[in-house]
Amino acid sequence: MTQQTKIEWTDFTVNFWEGCQKVGPGCDHCYAEARNQRFHGDNWGPGKPRRYVKGGIAKLHKINRGAEKFHEENGHWPRVFCSSLSDIFDNAVDKAWRLEAFSALEQATDTRPQLLTKRVGNVFQMIPQSWAMHWPRHIGLMITVVNQAEADRDIPKLLDLKAKLGISWVGLSMEPLLGPVRLDRIVSPKNWGENYDGWTFDCLTTGDYYTLFGEGPSLSGDGPWRDVAIDWVIVGGESGHHARPTHPDWIRSLRDQCEASGTPFLFKQWGEFAPFDPAGNETDRAVFKIGKKAAGRLLDGRTWDGVPT
Ligand code: SF4
Repeated sequence: MTQQTKIEWTDFTVNFWEGCQKVGPGCDHCYAEARNQRFHGDNWGPGKPRRYVKGGIAKLHKINRGAEKFHEENGHWPRVFCSSLSDIFDNAVDKAWRLEAFSALEQATDTRPQLLTKRVGNVFQMIPQSWAMHWPRHIGLMITVVNQAEADRDIPKLLDLKAKLGISWVGLSMEPLLGPVRLDRIVSPKNWGENYDGWTFDCLTTGDYYTLFGEGPSLSGDGPWRDVAIDWVIVGGESGHHARPTHPDWIRSLRDQCEASGTPFLFKQWGEFAPFDPAGNETDRAVFKIGKKAAGRLLDGRTWDGVPT
């Protein structure tokens, strides 16, 4: 079975339903919404029905059946991005659809599903009860982070989930990157208790991390201090008609932070803007709107394709 998507950080996409609602600046130019409209769908926004994708579950099972062959040919188990045309933790979707999807994901043990969400606050309440006790080892969890405010707000929640549920790996999709982000200086939320409000920590460094969930169910040990960190960082600029530029130094800074901590870093794409003039010469700092294809994905002369083991 050959790789099926051109998305650089995965091998396959699987959708169980289509439709969503915008929740932040990263959604402003949602390609899935534009695609939905192009095919005359009306599945975006509050009150709009989501569209069930009939072949979604069957496709996942098929990838799972072909996983050994894929592994032989590619040296890794098939990575599956769920869901590229929706958010699996969307409040508005039929709960039965989500439970059906979770059950299929749990059974597809030879795949490596990548659950990517912009709704990390929903994860714990929406997963099946069995996952709260035994998160499936083959499934990873990723969140989108596009600026420092989202990093400070959502990364502590992701690390809490990793510590609480024993998730084998967690990652960040920083696309479209809309501002500089210091992952080594995340500021903790205001409800962490008087000693830890506004505490600054490095989310890339495995070490003592203070969690808030002491009273909740936990598989990762006792007490509030856990040994957890972000396992993967994917960065990219925006593509499409209304793309916003990403400063090359924002990307370099994240690359350098990942290198310093040994965190796998993947540079997905420049998007429409890149530090190359129309003649193809690399510029010092200015970016030009030269189009996604011409912009490519070289950063300082090479590709960056780190993935967690
Ligand atoms: S969460 Fe994802 S699918 Fe939903 S509107 Fe935002 S970008 Fe689009």
